Amino acid sequence: MPARDAKRRLPARKPQPASTQPAHGGARRTAEGLTSGRILRPSIKFLPEDVRDHNRSLVLQTLYGASPQSRADIARLTRLTRVTVSDLVAGLITEGFVIEIGQREDSRPGKPATLLDINRGAFQIVGLDLSDDATLRGAVLDLSGTILERHQVPLGGSTGAEATAKVIALAEGLVDRTTRPILGMGVGSPGVVNLAGVVLSAPNLGWSNEPLQESLATRFGIPVIVGNDARAAVLAEHSFGVGQGDMMLVKVGHGVGSGLLLNGSLLFGSRGAAGEIGHVVVGTQGGAECACGKFGCLETWLAAPRLHARIAAARAFDERRPAPVVAEPILREAGRYLGIALAPVVAALNLSEIVLSGPGDLLAGPLVEAVSQTIRDRTMAEIHGDLTLRMSTLGDDIVIRGAAVMVLSGQLGVS
Ligand SMILES: [Zn+2]
Repeated sequence: MPARDAKRRLPARKPQPASTQPAHGGARRTAEGLTSGRILRPSIKFLPEDVRDHNRSLVLQTLYGASPQSRADIARLTRLTRVTVSDLVAGLITEGFVIEIGQREDSRPGKPATLLDINRGAFQIVGLDLSDDATLRGAVLDLSGTILERHQVPLGGSTGAEATAKVIALAEGLVDRTTRPILGMGVGSPGVVNLAGVVLSAPNLGWSNEPLQESLATRFGIPVIVGNDARAAVLAEHSFGVGQGDMMLVKVGHGVGSGLLLNGSLLFGSRGAAGEIGHVVVGTQGGAECACGKFGCLETWLAAPRLHARIAAARAFDERRPAPVVAEPILREAGRYLGIALAPVVAALNLSEIVLSGPGDLLAGPLVEAVSQTIRDRTMAEIHGDLTLRMSTLGDDIVIRGAAVMVLSGQLGVS
């Protein structure tokens, strides 16, 4: 039950050193950092002591979504009283999250209103993407989600403790590159990640029950949120792309995973594995053997290394015809299998949008067309006919930016 899961909180963090930890009141966090965003709905029952944090997030979200605004604008938009807004804004200015940026030039009589904005350059966020099988990547971002600095560490086939050491080396390189106080560190990891940021299982990195969030938080003394990479990606699409509130993002890379936003809430599932569709067997006609031991898992049809290998083999066999012509039936077949896997999900959840993220040479074109056709063939047009299927516009940085959303959401309640 996602609703129940979403109410669970991350464990209390250790006290943070004053130099790196912003001295704010600390919005309540749920898994992967989500709190009461404007669109990402609060899944929390607010106790009286939470009200101030909630209102503080409302003020920040109002400014984050559309700034500059005056105190009176914010009061009108949030339906908080002017006194409450002034009080909260005063606190946020002291903490360094909000700045006054001048006065509104208007012709209305009386004193011109002072305009406020989020102090987007005052803090920085460290975002890590562990989803690539060859390179661990990361970036330093400002509060708008703009990438300021990049760093990467080759994975070199490392697994287990060696892989963890390389993640820490990457994080260290990024922390060294920051030039402002760090709001927090977000990490998008492959595999199943529970609500406490423990990677329960990530076969490619050789991790099982890896307490990554705790290791990084202890090592760096800053707030850290570790979540699944596809869930990070769906958050990025929602905040920085053009995503809607009922959306599934299917991430194709070394494996296949997905993140689901329903009614603006991120789904976690009972074991933190919502969206893990890669090892669902598709069809009844066998298929290739999967790393998990089954035959015909979605990953065996769709994972990027498998598709590249099949296309290369077909081209070696048929050198006369142009490469795209040789690749087309392979990509169409992969798209059809993805469509077969997605149709019941679309029907069960009445999704409005499916977004594909991954290598454009594989996904855009015949593959996405076949997904669309297959879903249309297998669902009721009058209910699901307006489903949008498209490629993500965020490219290779989608997980890094999603990791930043986890931090923004967890620390400030904005998204
Ligand atoms: Zn499998």
